[in-house]
Amino acid sequence: MRAAVFKAAGQPLVIEQRPDPTPGAGEVVLKVGRCGICGTDLSMSDGSGQTFEPNSIVGHEFAGEIVAVGPGVERLRVGDRIAAMPFTGCGKCAACLTGRPNFCAQFRGMPGAFAEYTTTAERVAVKLPKSLSLADGALVEPLAVSLHGVALAGLRPGDRVLVIGAGPIGLGAIFWARSLGAGPIVATASSRQRESLAVQMGADAFVLPASANELPEAAIAALGGMPDVVVEAVGKPDMIGRAVNCVRPAGTVMVLGFCARPDSFVPAVAVWKEVRLLFGMTYSLGEFEHVARVLDRGHLEPRAMITDTIGLDALPGMLEALRHRTHQCKVMVDPWSAPH
Ligand SMILES: [Zn+2]
Ligand SMILES: [Zn+2]
Repeated sequence: MRAAVFKAAGQPLVIEQRPDPTPGAGEVVLKVGRCGICGTDLSMSDGSGQTFEPNSIVGHEFAGEIVAVGPGVERLRVGDRIAAMPFTGCGKCAACLTGRPNFCAQFRGMPGAFAEYTTTAERVAVKLPKSLSLADGALVEPLAVSLHGVALAGLRPGDRVLVIGAGPIGLGAIFWARSLGAGPIVATASSRQRESLAVQMGADAFVLPASANELPEAAIAALGGMPDVVVEAVGKPDMIGRAVNCVRPAGTVMVLGFCARPDSFVPAVAVWKEVRLLFGMTYSLGEFEHVARVLDRGHLEPRAMITDTIGLDALPGMLEALRHRTHQCKVMVDPWSAPH
């Protein structure tokens, strides 16, 4: 099969021939239909912090059709269309039994979907409802990250919410905050490029203050008060400090941005306000399934986040281009689309 392979930090992915995967016990092989490019694909390949394993195939936001099932697979069949969590665990410990294999002692990452085929574990796979396309299926993973964050923040109906960052995770947080009854919801980002997307996803307003110092006032003006919850969805240094500066006393800062560099903020500001500072990591299997159900019920606004669909050959160049400000939002890879 053809696959996009990570070689080393600072180097573009390389398209290589790899053996077709075979399923192990409890595993299925799927023909990848779509795999989204994620911000962590950028940050874990630029050498700034945590880095992918050399010679690994990455790509963790995927959906596809099952072409082979391994021994012990009970629920899934060849031909089923699935999305799957890109990691698994032992299946027996407390973490696994509550749907959080990312906390399992035997945690095993299972990305690998920037390729024609990939392997996944049955126990982390979700069958896609018929109404959903494979592109919808590949949106389940990033939407589950946002859902988990909003749920962890304990968002309540009527809460004032400020979302910093209008990439797919921030946009997803807006979508879930809206569907959980929060509001007003205000988005902010470093440019107006995603303003209309933010509004489509449920934001009441978008603010672009002239400087970070002006963000709290701009947010208060747009929200009619200090935010109860601030979602940090940028993942760059200084963003936690900004969120702490904005949030109301005893409010919640939910960090979903994946910043692999050291960061600093003034703890005293957070102490004065008694800020609840939370960090979110992925999602539970239940949340993953919930996303598919919500999309199936026709809440398909997140489709608007998909701005581009490219083939495998265009992926290395696209990944490099996305390191700079571009017009794209969620870029999907279709490993089977003809090269051009
Ligand atoms: Zn991701
Ligand atoms: Zn486990």
